[in-house]
Amino acid sequence: MPKIFNKQIDREMDYPYETSPPKRQVAYIFDTNKCIACQTCTIACKTCWTSGRGQEHIFYNNVETKPYGSYPMGWDTKLQEQRVQVTWNNKRLESPTIFEGNSPNSPPDGWRPTSEDYAHPNHGEDDISGIIEKTAHFAGEHPMWMFYLARICNHCTTPACLAACPRKAIYKREEDGIVLVDQERCRGYQECVRACPYKKVFYNAVSRASEKCIGCFPRVEQGLQALCVEGCIGKIRMHGFISTQTPPREDNPLDYIIHIRKLALPLYPQFGTGPNVYYVPPIHVPIGFCEQLFGPGVEESVSLYRKLKDDPKLLGALFLFGSTDHIIEHFEVKDQVAIGWNAKGDEVSRVPFTEYTYVRPHHDKEFQVYRHNTA
Ligand code: SF4
Ligand code: SF4
Ligand code: SF4
Repeated sequence: MPKIFNKQIDREMDYPYETSPPKRQVAYIFDTNKCIACQTCTIACKTCWTSGRGQEHIFYNNVETKPYGSYPMGWDTKLQEQRVQVTWNNKRLESPTIFEGNSPNSPPDGWRPTSEDYAHPNHGEDDISGIIEKTAHFAGEHPMWMFYLARICNHCTTPACLAACPRKAIYKREEDGIVLVDQERCRGYQECVRACPYKKVFYNAVSRASEKCIGCFPRVEQGLQALCVEGCIGKIRMHGFISTQTPPREDNPLDYIIHIRKLALPLYPQFGTGPNVYYVPPIHVPIGFCEQLFGPGVEESVSLYRKLKDDPKLLGALFLFGSTDHIIEHFEVKDQVAIGWNAKGDEVSRVPFTEYTYVRPHHDKEFQVYRHNTA
């Protein structure tokens, strides 16, 4: 089997195909500390892309409450329960990824949800962790906490869905790294559904083909952010590109937050698919639980987040979240203002650290009225 270097696990790993990074890779950052589970993202995506027959259970975007929520049911715990204990040596993964540990040419480790697993999209919603049973992947009791985890397809660097498809119906676009299912080639074998560890490929029984998040590619081609990103009420999301064939750039907000400052981390890097949705971990949740989800960089990230007020460039980069519908290619933080430019060099965002206020005169001479400023 070919060997691929996976940066997120700091080592080479087996993958069924030779791959090289796309020209640029679409990526997302979600700040879990800001999500309010309003589900606007879920509905923005659903009404646009999955409102047809056979798509009733399909949520390219979903938001679940951790630790109890999951959609489809147990997407994360079931896979972990069937695998060996995850072990890290500093930032290097020692245990096998889902592509390793089996005989050569066998499909990635996985499981296929039943229709009942898709029956409860809001299972565990808003449940606060009390005592949770000791399990193979978490030894101990949780103190009281919960947080919201927004999830979409990760447009992985080494996708398990693509690796598993016997029809070669799944492909990764060279121009932006978006992973798509060719609906014409797909015969509905559902090997991708079984293999994707994030369960972000869905089977449509009406079209008899599998489908998944399309990364809002018609918008990306126009330099616009995805609908689930643009619509986010909590402004927890940023969407753009990370550098793949060149070193990370200080003026690219995604490169800066993910690769230079290491504030945002991949979800379950131990699976080995190289996910490209990066999360700012919740700062109030036990480190052990977060490390299980986001790998070994959690402590460093939480410590950075707690000191954000004294870190103007990083803070400014986060202020750009939700500030524009354009993809920001370059950014700068100057005199307590964060500014973003698109690929054409047009300024598309300008966010002052302190919102401007205007105090109106108590007596308006023009209209001969008295006004009270209540703010
Ligand atoms: S729209 Fe934003 S804040 Fe609301 S649930 Fe989605 S990710 Fe969270
Ligand atoms: S998250 Fe799943 S569906 Fe998306 S690219 Fe990765 S393996 Fe494929
Ligand atoms: S990127 Fe587009 S298709 Fe994918 S989850 Fe977001 S809105 Fe849906």
